[in-house]
Amino acid sequence: MPPKQHRDELPADQRLRITEIFHSIQGEADSVGWPTVFVRLTGCPLRCGYCDTAYAFDGGSWMSIQDILASVAAYAPHYVTITGGEPLAQKNCIRLLACLCDAGYRVSIETGGSLPITGMDERVIRIMDLKTPGSGECGRNLYENILQLRRQDQVKFVICDRRDYEWSRHMLREHTLDERCQVLFSPSHEQLRAVELADWILADRLAVRLQLQIHKYLWGNMPGH
Ligand code: SF4
Repeated sequence: MPPKQHRDELPADQRLRITEIFHSIQGEADSVGWPTVFVRLTGCPLRCGYCDTAYAFDGGSWMSIQDILASVAAYAPHYVTITGGEPLAQKNCIRLLACLCDAGYRVSIETGGSLPITGMDERVIRIMDLKTPGSGECGRNLYENILQLRRQDQVKFVICDRRDYEWSRHMLREHTLDERCQVLFSPSHEQLRAVELADWILADRLAVRLQLQIHKYLWGNMPGH
C-alpha cells in the first residue's frame, strides 16, 4: 500500500478509508475459487455475533481512488471485490466501483444489507446479506433492497443454527428470492456443521447454493486472506 496520507491532503470526493488491499482466492459467492483482489473498506454500522473482520471496524488509512486503483492494478487481476466492514457506509464507494468497472475488472461488492444498494454502476455484481436472527442484527435488514436484486446479484444467508435455517427458508419462499437472483446458504464457521446444512437443503429441495467459505479452509481466519 502507498504511505499513509492525512484526510485533509485528499479531496473529499476522492478519498476512502481502507483497512487492506490483498490478493487471495475468492472463498464464496458465484466467483468462488478465482484469484481476486479484495479492497476492504474501514467501518461498519453492524456488530454481527460471528463477525470475522472486526479489525475493519476502525483504523485503516485514507487513500485516494487513484492510489487504490494503482494498488489493485499491481496484481493484474480479472476479479476485484469490494468488501468491509460495510463498504457502502462510505459514500465514495460508489465512485470507486465505477472506476474499477471502467478499468475493465469484473467487480463485485459484499454488503451487509442494512444500507441501500441503489446507485451503483450497473456492471457491479452485488452480494447482499440478509442477516439471520443468529447474527444479532436481523432488525437492521433493509428489506426494500430485495426489490433491487437482479439475476447476476446474489443474496447470502449466514446460518448459525436450525432456527436461522428455518427463518432463511421462510424468507426464500416469502420473497421468491430464487426467482430474482442466486441464493447462497452459508454455515456460520464453527457454529453449524456444513453437512447438517447440506442435509436440510436437500431434504427441503431448496433452490439455493451451499457455500463453504473455502478461504477459511485454506488459511483460517487470517487477515489478508
Ligand atoms: S456486516 Fe459484516 S463486517 Fe459488519 S459486523 Fe456484520 S459480519 Fe462484520
